[in-house]
Amino acid sequence: MSDVLDLTCELIRRRSVTPEDAGCQALIAERLARCGFVIRHLRHGAVDNLWASHGQGGPVLMFLGHTDVVPSGPEAAWQSPPFEPTVRDGRLYGRGAADMKGAVAAMVVALEQFVAAHPQHPGRVALLLTSDEEGPTNLDGVRRVAEDFRASGERIDWCVVGEPSAKERLGDLIRVGRRGSLSGTLTVHGVQGHVAYPEKALNPIHAFAPALVELAAERWDAEPATAALPDFPPTSFQISNLNAGTGAGNVIPGALHALINFRYGTASSADALRARTEAILHRHGLRFTLEWNLSGEPFLTAPGGRLRETVVAVCRELCGLEPEQSTGGGTSDGRFIAPLGVEVVEIGPVNASIHKVDECVSVQDLQALPAMYRSVCERLLV
Ligand SMILES: [Zn+2]
Repeated sequence: MSDVLDLTCELIRRRSVTPEDAGCQALIAERLARCGFVIRHLRHGAVDNLWASHGQGGPVLMFLGHTDVVPSGPEAAWQSPPFEPTVRDGRLYGRGAADMKGAVAAMVVALEQFVAAHPQHPGRVALLLTSDEEGPTNLDGVRRVAEDFRASGERIDWCVVGEPSAKERLGDLIRVGRRGSLSGTLTVHGVQGHVAYPEKALNPIHAFAPALVELAAERWDAEPATAALPDFPPTSFQISNLNAGTGAGNVIPGALHALINFRYGTASSADALRARTEAILHRHGLRFTLEWNLSGEPFLTAPGGRLRETVVAVCRELCGLEPEQSTGGGTSDGRFIAPLGVEVVEIGPVNASIHKVDECVSVQDLQALPAMYRSVCERLLV
């Protein structure tokens, strides 16, 4: 067994379903402390966060990951138990193998190798881990640590996130930004009444329908100023839930409830999306309440950035691939680090099986990852 495979298996055996860390970070801290890393445990509420750094001054290259995993679902549905790492046909199976204990193990091994080969390296290398990435709020994870970093003036120049980014082959896709996510809980108020006496009621379904047509047809982004490829897919507006009605066929309901979500790029702002949505609802004369929740602002690491160019070069040279440089997919903890003025790039294993039954990672890819992360360190700091 290799070092990275061994460590990944050790981590999978720990049942660290959010917000549990189940001893993953203690194991990693002990290893890195042996190599001279300075360790800080930053526990907030029920969440474990680990900060390990090596070296002095700047520049600072940080690796970012999470030790928590999503629940396995019914264990009987798995071919082998989700928390018993198992190698079959060249793949390592287990919850977290791809998202993202494999990459966390690869980062640890890469950092160990890097400081052993370059004990007097310039600047600092660091690792930030949280046990609250997969949860619904991320309040006490990287969001909170980033607030503390901002307050204390902690220097970070570059951040490599090990989230599973690849589509089919290691190195075929890196993420250079993420869209923002803005959610709203909408209630349209009407007046309940008998369906036979509509003049004595106000039907919120009828009132909302024309507004919904307009919202769904709206183009939210300004036209790009140049013909250059846009950095983000167009902003999307989606209704994920729509409910009204009492269950009775002869009652006009008193209210309509909807959950809405925007995924948006840097061409839009959350404030503008909120204002335009509310303007459309007002224009249709609706009486409504709308509560907004901004779960992440968009971020983008521009082309030409030192980290972005370095990661692309590593994919070319170590994987023989020209990586797609994407801003697609959901959001990630990188959204809390980027606003500190940090270049953020995500590169990790193939994401085809993440959150699924029989989650797995290719053993060959896993064994190739430490050299890629180590190469990023060497190109930026040596
Ligand atoms: Zn993840």
